[in-house]
Amino acid sequence: MGYVDLHTHSTASDGSLTPTELVTYAVAKGLTAIALTDHDTTEGLDEAINAGNNTGLEVVPGIEISAQYEAGTMHILGYFIDPGNAALRSNLARLQEARRTRNPRILEKLAQLGVHITIEDVEEASGGGQIGRPHIAQAIVKKGYANDVNYVFDNYLTKGGPAYVDKFRFSPEDSISLIKSAGGRACLGHPFTLFIKDNVMLDQMVAGLKARGLEAIEVYYPDHSPEQTATFLHLAKKYDLFPTGGSDFHGRAKPRVDLGIGYGALRVPYELLDHMRS
Ligand code: AMP
Ligand code: ZN
Ligand code: FE
Ligand code: FE
Repeated sequence: MGYVDLHTHSTASDGSLTPTELVTYAVAKGLTAIALTDHDTTEGLDEAINAGNNTGLEVVPGIEISAQYEAGTMHILGYFIDPGNAALRSNLARLQEARRTRNPRILEKLAQLGVHITIEDVEEASGGGQIGRPHIAQAIVKKGYANDVNYVFDNYLTKGGPAYVDKFRFSPEDSISLIKSAGGRACLGHPFTLFIKDNVMLDQMVAGLKARGLEAIEVYYPDHSPEQTATFLHLAKKYDLFPTGGSDFHGRAKPRVDLGIGYGALRVPYELLDHMRS
């Protein structure tokens, strides 16, 4: 049945491959299926699905919505969404608008800190898709203000950093509802980023999300330790959630993570996708 990668990004958000290039790469890697899960946008889905036609590769229309909960951001993945769904489109447009107002404010803050880049520099880094902080960081590196993107995040763009500007986000509940109303299945992305040290609190968090319609949890992920993977698999069973997995492939924007295999050891069997579909 082969292997799949249910967490990937394209130039529609902050990946470096176009949707077509991503599909071509997945075919070359011998994967059976991928889900394109760009941040807060479905703009790459039509292209990816078209590129997948007649290749034998299944392309699952997905998304990764950045949600706000009390302690920070939570990523809710959506699978099998209808990209044309009107409610989804209009709500995602709100997020695009939030980015459009945020980006110039970040550039203003940077200028006050002596880092002078233009929105055109950032657009060039973005490859024409939605603009995020990684593109701003790339433009800063290109202009020679820093050697690498991590330095820019650590010193300027990280949440709470001197050039950070917050933006509107939906709640986890609203994100789940949006995905479900577009015909999709909602999945808690890379739970290790919740930074919940206490397994009791994590359990309560997952229980609460399940009560609000969560259907899946990302168990297999490059940065999950074996212990974390076991914990999340246990939660999947306990709360009757589909276990999923993916690499969070971003191409050159995250060069150590490869499609399908993450840092090398990741394998996500096709059965997981099949179970979630059923
Ligand atoms: P944005 O959507 O503009 O808020 O940017 C979020 C993206 O920035 C995330 O998806 C990450 O890929 C990236 N990011 C966030 N924090 C960091 C960090 N400390 N170092 C490198 N990349 C980061
Ligand atoms: Zn990303
Ligand atoms: Fe994420
Ligand atoms: Fe991601």
